[in-house]
Amino acid sequence: MSTGAAGDAAGTPTGRPARLRLPGGAAGPEGVAFPPFIDHHVHLQMVDPDAAPQAGIAGVVDLGAELTAIAALAAREPLPRVVFAGQFLTAPGGYPSDRWWLRPGSLRELPAATRADDRRALPDPIETAVAEQAAFGARLVKIMLNADAGPVFDRATVDAIVVAARARGLLVATHAEGEGTARLAIEAGADVLVHAPFTERLDDELVALAAASGQCWITTFDIHARAGEASALGTAIDNTARFLAAGGRVLYGTDLGNGELPDGVNPGELAAMLAAGLAPGELIGALSDPWPLGDPVEWGGDALATFVPGPQPQDAEELPAWLAGARVVPIENLEFG
Ligand SMILES: [Zn+2]
Repeated sequence: MSTGAAGDAAGTPTGRPARLRLPGGAAGPEGVAFPPFIDHHVHLQMVDPDAAPQAGIAGVVDLGAELTAIAALAAREPLPRVVFAGQFLTAPGGYPSDRWWLRPGSLRELPAATRADDRRALPDPIETAVAEQAAFGARLVKIMLNADAGPVFDRATVDAIVVAARARGLLVATHAEGEGTARLAIEAGADVLVHAPFTERLDDELVALAAASGQCWITTFDIHARAGEASALGTAIDNTARFLAAGGRVLYGTDLGNGELPDGVNPGELAAMLAAGLAPGELIGALSDPWPLGDPVEWGGDALATFVPGPQPQDAEELPAWLAGARVVPIENLEFG
């Protein structure tokens, strides 16, 4: 059975008008059905995982957790569906080793890469760490590069992590914060920046390289707005606007679990995405992009939809509030006109 995953010529998913059938068969509200909405940056260990589906989010990408806990959350039947990175991989003493919110077992400090012939027969700690993430079911690894809060990996070590991840079919997610870290992540070929770069203006050439290499950026604008960090927000929006103009792929993500954020579809995040230049169709596309999986069906899109009651507003400025009314529903509870 097909889903609401119809798309326009550019591949942007479009909504389908639908009416929700209530329990007992009574006619519910009319609205619009979309492929499952995904929050591409959350920390499920730090929130109530059951709150997301009521608020329109069918799937989440967890970007930092203890392996046993996150594997258990991912194995649960209830929504949201979970794809995860596993532990925060960082340099010894690096971010976020000193943070109060760090859950036990969620940090993995790795030594600098060594040449294979220097190691002799000893197991390589980088390969061991990446193999462990994969063994627990991670689909990606998370590299922490925060030069403002401690030591960070050098290029050779990032390269070694990328090689080890690629060898196991894992994608590479990077937290880049502080001077030069976005450049390091982009030049090393990381698949995604987990925050749109917010600590420095990237030059156009570097932005173009990120876009041309197919790197994705996860927005997380609202954490800066919430913290009153207008300069970080402005920098992230400026970098993202130029990334979009260069053809870059932007993903909706909130960093849910980082301080006080609303559950589910966050209208503040969406408003900032519009400010960065996403067109309404691109906004829906960023919410329903199946990354890091290949297809909405892998998120349950053959059986689930994100349904938004009421007609889709014509005015882009009204979209965030409308989308915040989303809920996840079984497709069999929808009647398509
Ligand atoms: Zn995060």
